[in-house]
Amino acid sequence: MRFPLALTVKIARHIVKHKLRGTPKFAMVLQLEPLHTCNLTCTGCGRIREYSTSLKDMVPLEQCLAAAKDCDAPMVSICGGEPLIYPKIEELVAGLREQGRIIYICTNGVFMRKKMREYLAVIFDKANPTHESYLSQLLAENLITEKEAEAIRNADAAAKAKTVIHPSKWHYWNVHVDGLEFTHDLIVEREGVFKECVAAIKMAKILGYQTATNTTVYKETDVQELEDMFKFLSSLNVDGHTISPGYDYDAAKKDMVKRLGKDPKDFFLTRDMTRKKFAKIEEWGRLFTIFGTPVYQEFLAGKRELTCTAWAIPTYNVKGWKAPCYLMTDGHYPTYGEMLGTVKWEKYGVVDGVARDSRCEHCMVHCGYDPSGALSNKPYDSWLNMKYNFGPRPTTYPASPELEKRAFNGVTIGRGHLAEAKAAIQSPAASARGAFSRKDDDHDHTSAPTNGGSCGSGDTSQRDDLLAKIKGNGTVTTKAE
Ligand code: SF4
Ligand code: SF4
Repeated sequence: MRFPLALTVKIARHIVKHKLRGTPKFAMVLQLEPLHTCNLTCTGCGRIREYSTSLKDMVPLEQCLAAAKDCDAPMVSICGGEPLIYPKIEELVAGLREQGRIIYICTNGVFMRKKMREYLAVIFDKANPTHESYLSQLLAENLITEKEAEAIRNADAAAKAKTVIHPSKWHYWNVHVDGLEFTHDLIVEREGVFKECVAAIKMAKILGYQTATNTTVYKETDVQELEDMFKFLSSLNVDGHTISPGYDYDAAKKDMVKRLGKDPKDFFLTRDMTRKKFAKIEEWGRLFTIFGTPVYQEFLAGKRELTCTAWAIPTYNVKGWKAPCYLMTDGHYPTYGEMLGTVKWEKYGVVDGVARDSRCEHCMVHCGYDPSGALSNKPYDSWLNMKYNFGPRPTTYPASPELEKRAFNGVTIGRGHLAEAKAAIQSPAASARGAFSRKDDDHDHTSAPTNGGSCGSGDTSQRDDLLAKIKGNGTVTTKAE
């Protein structure tokens, strides 16, 4: 099976219950944003820009748990911002599990290993040989240091008493990976993040955590690279992948123009471009454990139309229930019911190729249309979804030095990757990497970021340095520079 049986049954029960009751609109996945603070400033992330004035605000734990009860979605995706910065993340995961929900912790991966070391410190028992063998394996793979292993072995009472995130079949680490090393580190605007994500995934798999990845596809995303990324992630035994086209919603678009001096058209996909990029999505679904319905995959590949069901993946954050969807904000509401009842849903989405709202014109995102596939009333669609999910799990792609080399293709300057990064830039596929580079003539390096270069600061200096180092090392120039 592509998705564990217990989880599939839980979701199926939820759908059947509401269909029998004739509930017109109900939640499938809650996008819970306990905070918008982030340690990264990814290109194309509108979230940290739209909520830049409330970055320090957080949703109290009890309110997060109440929101989950309010909409009663069987799945909760804890996102943000970076949820591992949320001080009560462990208590939040535990509380949602007490409510019986399936949980995705959507993280950029940077703090995952720390959280897993804390877990190890809690469970570590010197008399248990399995625990010492975990440490040996993690040490052998350079996933923890000797000092960290010692800290785990000798954890004090306070460390032992911490609430931690245990491995569970009911939750996934959902790691943000937008490409292989070169692309990912440029998009997240910080070197070394891809490497950290891979280390975190390896550690998670050793410790028995379920681990998924989520990828946003942009105009400049190279399809061959996506396939290599899936092969590489499969070789790491990642349990599943979510993939969605990038969409030029207002906040991301404004940031693109203002901070990077780029035309959003160079970065985000139109509907036609999405269909071309996703032409092979069904083949990927056969080869790799792609989460999401085959109905949505057909939609992405341009084989059918779907109607947006954004109400099925509602977003709750510091301002309340965000409508109409995860991407666009026309208002916030105090309860899910009030949002459902007040928003004129018929004003949104694209029907028969005609956008009801011009802002929806190019949107084919997962959070608007994947539930449409799951909630379809057509018997053929239900059969398709069941066949896909109950079908055999794609086999793991074999790991190889060749694949590893393709994955770590730059730009970890100073660690031997520069030559490969240069080669990547010189390749035809990279010649149009303009939107990942910053316009040189109108930015200001003199004003210090007010929040230490964290989210919303507009600080892209590290990424600029990366590009400058590559550029300064010889004749290499990117198109936009
Ligand atoms: S990790 Fe990147 S995409 Fe996610 S919230 Fe932070 S800046 Fe945005
Ligand atoms: S189509 Fe749906 S998900 Fe996409 S922007 Fe419009 S309302 Fe949001």
